[in-house]
Amino acid sequence: MYDTENIFAKILRGEIPCTKLLEDEHSLAFADINAQAPVHALVIPKGAYVDMNDFTRNASDQEIASLMRCAARVAHDLGADESGYRIIANTGGDANPEVPHLHIHILGGRNLGAMLPG
Ligand code: 5GP
Repeated sequence: MYDTENIFAKILRGEIPCTKLLEDEHSLAFADINAQAPVHALVIPKGAYVDMNDFTRNASDQEIASLMRCAARVAHDLGADESGYRIIANTGGDANPEVPHLHIHILGGRNLGAMLPG
């Protein structure tokens, strides 16, 4: 069940501000409010999708293509495509997502080390 009061739904409705990086018909990219790396952007679908499971089952091919192209475009625009970057989409209980609207993290700008701590 999608929670229409989640923080990213409010960003999409313009109820709270964000630092917008890129937008197209289906997707929005903005800076993460609590950056974990010199480059830390989020890309979200404009549609109401909880996570990757919901998105890949229910979104159109156009929405899926838009999200992936926006992610790569933002990495390029932020100068991380040559040096390297990591994308993460926390989905489901074991991944501990904080916000129940699908978002892809784009992290880079320094060597990110091992994929998982420990
Ligand atoms: P998750 O843990 O769900 O994968 O990641 C949620 C991300 O959303 C976190 O990195 C957090 O810093 C970011 N975030 C939470 N609230 C806001 C907000 O109001 N604005 C922005 N720009 N990012 C947010």
